[in-house]
Amino acid sequence: MEFDYDYIICGGGASGLSIASAISLDNYFSTKKILIIDPEFPKKINDRTWCFWENNESSNWKELTFHNWNNIIFKSDNFDKIISLGPLSYKMLKSTPYYDYTNNIISKNSNIQILNEKVIDIVEKENHGEVKTNLGTYKSKKIFNSILNWETLKSNKKYPLLIQHFEGWFIKTEEDFFNPEQATFMDFSIEQNSCTKFMYILPFSKKEALVEYTLFSKNVLDKKGYENFLINYLKSLGITNYSIVSKENGRIPMTGFPFHKLNSKNIINIGSAGGWSKPSTGFTFKNIERKTKLLIDFLKNHDDFTKFYKKSRFRYYDIIFLDVLYQNNHLGKKLFTQMFKNNRSKLIFKFLDEKSNFIEELSIMANFSIGIFVKTIIKRIFKL
Ligand SMILES: Cc1cc2nc3c(=O)[nH]c(=O)nc-3n(C[C@H](O)[C@H](O)[C@H](O)COP(=O)(O)OP(=O)(O)OC[C@H]3O[C@@H](n4cnc5c(N)ncnc54)[C@H](O)[C@@H]3O)c2cc1C
Repeated sequence: MEFDYDYIICGGGASGLSIASAISLDNYFSTKKILIIDPEFPKKINDRTWCFWENNESSNWKELTFHNWNNIIFKSDNFDKIISLGPLSYKMLKSTPYYDYTNNIISKNSNIQILNEKVIDIVEKENHGEVKTNLGTYKSKKIFNSILNWETLKSNKKYPLLIQHFEGWFIKTEEDFFNPEQATFMDFSIEQNSCTKFMYILPFSKKEALVEYTLFSKNVLDKKGYENFLINYLKSLGITNYSIVSKENGRIPMTGFPFHKLNSKNIINIGSAGGWSKPSTGFTFKNIERKTKLLIDFLKNHDDFTKFYKKSRFRYYDIIFLDVLYQNNHLGKKLFTQMFKNNRSKLIFKFLDEKSNFIEELSIMANFSIGIFVKTIIKRIFKL
């Protein structure tokens, strides 16, 4: 049977472009007909900045990195920890150069077609998949979907959903204020009230920084809620003479929802829509890089996307951690402080990268107030 395409990629954002450019660079796929559907393609505005940690030596992002920090700071009440990341470094990459870089690769692949249409539905058929848009229906052997459906996450009753939501301002100060060698990874010294919140400061010169107010909570704030907080926070640091160069805001799902169960033989969910945002932190960018590589290898050897998912104990750690945070949304400060205060920094990042071993994980767990976790696990066991 003839199909319109071998692969359709729904959504040309971070993960869609990652898959499309990896396919374009690999000779194995040289004859594959590919369609990318995104009403906003090609994105020209800098709609997000991605930060992540990685080893400099093996980085694929050297050219695109906007700034990197070898030291980061974790702050809480009466506790500051300067963390030297070596051999890792914390990096910032702006989305515009990433979009340009990947689009440049894609534009050289004459088998890729782009449609500026809005995907309305994606349907699994017996031996292919179909994408319905506002303008047509397209058949493909395989479909990659990166369009996140928040309603699916909100309406499920089993896996609680926290939203990581934030507003960040790129500011320029009149006087020297920042240390461009050090990023503030989490500043929990701000008042918490009933939910988890912290400040995130990424300076790239003495006068320029991205200052972001981030919350992990059940509901988002209104515009003024973020703005007033940012103004007051900057004031509390003594920063009153500054201009706002640009702003970014966003929402990232934090949930143990089993996204892989939405995959079918011919349709796979990728990016945040595929559960590639780490549930306990929201970090996604490096997962997109890792999973793209796995998916490219998978495509060469397998035909059924339901087989792509691999079980991992880290998923259970994330689920339990999120349950604790969901039921006790004010406890984030305490839990993150215990984690950073009581563990070696290298081990923390190894654990967050899901590369630690079981003994190391036990040692991290022993450093948390265990009671609250036991209570949550018992609740979950009876719910499951
Ligand atoms: C402001 C912001 C900052 C972030 N910072 C970080 C960070 O520092 N580090 C990190 O690891 N992660 C970060 N994330 C999380 C994550 O890395 C990003 O959200 C990333 O863009 C996710 O990639 P994605 O492909 O899943 O989704 P997107 O990049 O959002 O791509 C989805 C695409 O689908 C398209 N689309 C939507 N609806 C339709 C439709 N109906 N039809 C067709 N196309 C559609 C959109 O136009 C978009 O291009 C951030 C997220 C945001 C929002």
